[in-house]
Amino acid sequence: MARILPLRGEGVVLSVGDDAALLRPPAGEVLVATVDEVVEGVHFDARFTPADIGWKAMAVNLSDLAAMGARPLWALVALAFPGETPARRILGVMTGLAACSRRHGIAVVGGNVSRGPALSLAITAVGAVPEGRALTRSGARAGDLLLGSGVFGDAALGMLRGAAPALARRQRRPTPRLLLGRALAGLARAAIDVSDGLVQDLGHMAAASGVSAVLEAERIPLSPAYRRRARRLADPLSAALSGGEDYELLLAVAPGDLPAARAAARRVRTPLAVLGRFEEGSGVRVVAGGRPLEVPPGHDHLRAPAPPGPSARRRATRRAAPPL
Ligand SMILES: [Mg+2]
Repeated sequence: MARILPLRGEGVVLSVGDDAALLRPPAGEVLVATVDEVVEGVHFDARFTPADIGWKAMAVNLSDLAAMGARPLWALVALAFPGETPARRILGVMTGLAACSRRHGIAVVGGNVSRGPALSLAITAVGAVPEGRALTRSGARAGDLLLGSGVFGDAALGMLRGAAPALARRQRRPTPRLLLGRALAGLARAAIDVSDGLVQDLGHMAAASGVSAVLEAERIPLSPAYRRRARRLADPLSAALSGGEDYELLLAVAPGDLPAARAAARRVRTPLAVLGRFEEGSGVRVVAGGRPLEVPPGHDHLRAPAPPGPSARRRATRRAAPPL
């Protein structure tokens, strides 16, 4: 089954098949390592095809490499599944894993398969970034602009029953922003990828940097599919603000570097928008029309945003959510 995976790549001296892999670190670069696990019933359910599961498990790790400005090199994969799992389900997971790995140029150099109570996939991904150019969460300064890639909230709306295919796809097959992360390494002052929700992850970045963040709700880029679906929700912005799993990048950029950042994003064909700014202080303020907006708490995997109901409607009236 390992044959369907990309086993070779830069720096791979010895890949899958021995007790451990032999890997040569690139000269002049530092290694960037991350691990993430997806578990059936927690991170995915029956709406995911086996290939979706494999794709997403790799993509969420690659997104963390992207947030550090790294290029992907090597991955180690630990797969567990219950004894009664059909072989074609496992093959499907591996096929999705292989597709995402090939698309983004990472070699799978080792793995382990075991029995487990539920299907789970734990991936360790290693990348590299030139010394001194890694993006971290902690470099934002008061006066910096807050930039965001792509669009927000599609993945959360993709969890709703009957979600449009464009939204469901963003939930099941996220695109790690590797090219943008690398293009902005050494230019942006700080970065984070949005896994837990725009406001929550922005909060992590602000806290690590010792500054406050101001997010202007009207500036958050939304897809056409998002706008169509969210019009029927009690709070049309909550999926974009708190939904999670967008795997977009948030970046802090000095105002003078904005033209260079925009040019870099154009080169890698990735949308990049100004969403707000960083200031002295702490915490995140979301403003709409210059007025503060209350934001619901963060993200829970597999929990879609609440459909409109009487209580949700009351809440929305009180909060006076801005129209899209
Ligand atoms: Mg992350």
